[in-house]
Amino acid sequence: MKKIPWQDQILMIPGPTPVSSQALLAAAQPMMNHRSSDFKKMMEEIESGLKQVFQTQSSVMVLTTSGTGAMEACIVNLLSPGDKILACPNGVFGERFIKIAKAYQANVEILESPLGQGVDPEKLKNRLKEDSKQEFKAILITHNETSTGVENNLKLLSSARGNHPALMVVDSVSALGASELKMDEWKLDAVASASQKALMAPPGLAFVAFSERAWEAAKSSKMPKFYFDLPMAREFQSKGETPFTPALPVLYALQVSLRSLMDEGLDSSFSRHKRMAELIQTSLGKMGLKLFAHPEYRSKTLTTIEIPAGVDVKKLREMMRNQYGIVIAGGQGSLTDKIFRIGHMGCVGEKELLYTISSLGKTLQELGFNANTQEALKPFEASSLASIHH
Ligand code: PMP
Repeated sequence: MKKIPWQDQILMIPGPTPVSSQALLAAAQPMMNHRSSDFKKMMEEIESGLKQVFQTQSSVMVLTTSGTGAMEACIVNLLSPGDKILACPNGVFGERFIKIAKAYQANVEILESPLGQGVDPEKLKNRLKEDSKQEFKAILITHNETSTGVENNLKLLSSARGNHPALMVVDSVSALGASELKMDEWKLDAVASASQKALMAPPGLAFVAFSERAWEAAKSSKMPKFYFDLPMAREFQSKGETPFTPALPVLYALQVSLRSLMDEGLDSSFSRHKRMAELIQTSLGKMGLKLFAHPEYRSKTLTTIEIPAGVDVKKLREMMRNQYGIVIAGGQGSLTDKIFRIGHMGCVGEKELLYTISSLGKTLQELGFNANTQEALKPFEASSLASIHH
C-alpha cells in the first residue's frame, strides 16, 4: 500500500497541532521591517489577544523561542542562585522545569505526586504551612502535564498558598486557550505558553506574563540572563517592538489564529475542548482500552492510553500513519513502553476524532487486539458524521 505523504496526514499529537489554511497563508506573506509602524500595529493586536487568553491586565511578552524558552525566562527573571523553590512535578514537563531551575543553581525541593494524578492542593497547603520562615520563593506547576494527560486544578493550587508569599509559576504550554486559566483572578504570578498547541499557530513563539508581584521580584533577580531579559523585553514591547528580530511568519499566522479564537470566543473554545475530550475518552473506553490518567484529572487537550498487552505500539503508530494518515504520539520518559497519546487541541473537531477512533480500532484489530470499534463509534451517533463513516 502507498504511504500517505506527511503533508496529507492529520496531526493527532499533543503539538505541534494543525494550523488552518488561513493562518498558513498569512505566514507566507513577505517579511516586514520589525522596527516599523506596521509591525507595531500587528504586535499591539497580538498582545491584546494574548491578554484576553491569559485573562490578565499585565503585559504578555512575546519571545522568539519554544515553550521551554518561556519556562527558562520565568526561572531566570524571578530567581537568584540558591533560592529555595518548591517544584510540583507530575511528569516529564514538570521534571523539565526542575532541570532548568537546577541549571541556574536554584535550591529545588520536590513535592511528589503519583504519575497519572494531579498535584493535591491539600498536600501543597500542608507543605507551605510547614515552611514557617516562608523561605520558598516560588512554586512550579505544570497546568496540563502532556506526558501523562493530567490537568492540574490551578485555581485550587494557587489558593492553597494562603498567605505564603511564594510566586505561583505556571507552565501552561499545552492548555492555554483550550482550558480555563484566569491569571489575575487566580493570582498566578507567572504563566508561560507557546504558539504551537491550542493557540493553533506554527512553532517558534512563546509567551510569558508576570503579575505585579513577579515584576517586583524580577528587580532583585540575580540569575544570569541576556536573550531572556524580560524587563528589557517589556520595555521594547511597550513601544510595539521586540528586542531582537522576531519570527515574523509565526507572528503573521498567530495574528490570524488569535482572531479565529476571539471569533469563536474563549468560553466556546473551552467547552468545545471539554466536549471533544469527553467524546474520545468515552469512545476509547467502549473500544476496550484503558485510559492512563485518573478520571478526576483527565486532560482536555490530550488523552493517554495504556498499551494493550501484546500490541507493538511502534507498529500501531506506523500503521495508523502510513495506512490512514493519522499521527499519534508514543509515551515519554518512564511511560515510553506503557502508554500512547492522542492530542485533541486547537483546530481539532469531531470529524478528526471519529476518523482517529475508526482507524485505531481497525489497526488494533490487525495487531491482534480485539477492539470493539462498533461500540466505540456509538458516542458519535448523535452526529451526522457517524453515518457517513459507516
Ligand atoms: N511544557 C509542556 C506542558 C509541554 O507540553 C511542552 C511541549 N510538549 C513543553 C513544556 C515544551 O515546549 P516546547 O517543545 O515548545 O519547548
